[in-house]
Amino acid sequence: MDARFRCLIICGKKCCTFNNIEDSPLIFPWEKRLLERLAMNKGIGRLEFEPYAGYICGRRAYVLLYKWIIKGICPFISGYKCSIHRDKPLACKMFPLIIGWGDNTLRVSGSCPWVNDNLDSIRNSDPRKTFPDEIPYALKAFAILSSADNVARSRGWRKTVGKELLESDEIIDIDEVVEIK
Ligand code: SF4
Ligand code: SF4
Repeated sequence: MDARFRCLIICGKKCCTFNNIEDSPLIFPWEKRLLERLAMNKGIGRLEFEPYAGYICGRRAYVLLYKWIIKGICPFISGYKCSIHRDKPLACKMFPLIIGWGDNTLRVSGSCPWVNDNLDSIRNSDPRKTFPDEIPYALKAFAILSSADNVARSRGWRKTVGKELLESDEIIDIDEVVEIK
């Protein structure tokens, strides 16, 4: 029988604490803007983001994903719970599923204790049965990525990650010029 994911909330805010920049959530530009608004409404200080992935056209960069740089515990955590549950980014909604953004693969995070306790069952299971609540969010993220890739292909934009985005003369959120969602 397929194992069914159960979040061990008592594992100590583990997936909402970030000690390594590599583990920072990757979020879409519209999610970044929503987080900024929520942070302002809640009186949380400035949030930190860095363009992570997108497309290049000439000297212009279109950002599809930002890295949300969280140092330590996420400012939206309240007790052991997320205070923006309905509005949190897809990366949070699908966790412990994660997307390999470079190669569009679905992965499972090894930093989640439930995952580590159930590795054998997960390997042979149908992810739709093991992660029924998380899979729809992962599929939504895949659909966005695929839609962005199609737009980029039709316009001759080149896909890129990291430094090249930052070095562009103009950096624009992709949804400011095309509808992606
Ligand atoms: S690390 Fe896993 S078990 Fe722990 S709170 Fe996050 S999703 Fe739940
Ligand atoms: S937004 Fe919510 S789920 Fe996401 S890292 Fe912050 S507290 Fe955790």
